[in-house]
Amino acid sequence: MKIGVLALQGAFQEHQNMLESLGAETFQIRQYKDLNTKFDGLILPGGESTTIYKLLSELNMLDDLRNKIQNGLPVFGTCAGLILLSKKIKNQSTTALSTMDIECSRNAYGRQLGSFSVNSNFADIGEVPMVFIRAPYITQVNANDVEILAKIDGKIVAAKQKNQLVTAFHPELTNNIKVHSYFLNNIINMSK
Ligand code: GLN
Repeated sequence: MKIGVLALQGAFQEHQNMLESLGAETFQIRQYKDLNTKFDGLILPGGESTTIYKLLSELNMLDDLRNKIQNGLPVFGTCAGLILLSKKIKNQSTTALSTMDIECSRNAYGRQLGSFSVNSNFADIGEVPMVFIRAPYITQVNANDVEILAKIDGKIVAAKQKNQLVTAFHPELTNNIKVHSYFLNNIINMSK
C-alpha cells in the first residue's frame, strides 16, 4: 500500500514514520508532478493551513487533489489538514479543498488552551492520546453521512465521511499507532 504525504509545510515526517512502522510505503508530495504517482491514500498534515493553502494554490495542485478526493481517494487530514478539507470555516470566506461537509473553527481553543494533551475515546478503537496544538474543532456536521468519531467536552474532534478522515489532534506526535491503523484498515481497505 502506497501513501502520499503532502510535504509542503508542517508535521509530515512524523506521519511517514508512523505509516512505515505499520508496513505502508510512503512518498512525499511536493510538486504538481508528484500527483502522477499512483497512490492508495493521502495524508494532509498539521501545520499552518493558510500557508499550505497558499502553496497548494501556487503549485496549481488544488484542483487535482480535490478531484482525486471527490473520486474516492482515501484522505486523512490532521489539524491544518482538517481545515483544508472543510467546506466551511468559521469567520473565514476562503476554503481550500472544500470536500468534507463539516464546518470548523480555527484556533478554537483560545490562547490559554492553545496546546494540550488528553487521553480520550475514539470510536471503534478505544482510548488514544490526543495532542492538540492551536487546534481547530468541528462546529457543525452538514451531511447525514458524516460520522462523529471523537468528542472532547462536547466538541467534535474527529469525524469521517466516506473516504475522508479528519482529526483536530495529532496522532503522529504520539507513539500510539491506533488512529493511523484505523486509516489504513477502516478507510483505505474499506474503500477498495
Ligand atoms: N492553527 C493552525 C491553522 O489554523 C493549525 C494548527 C496545527 O495544524 N497544529 O492552520
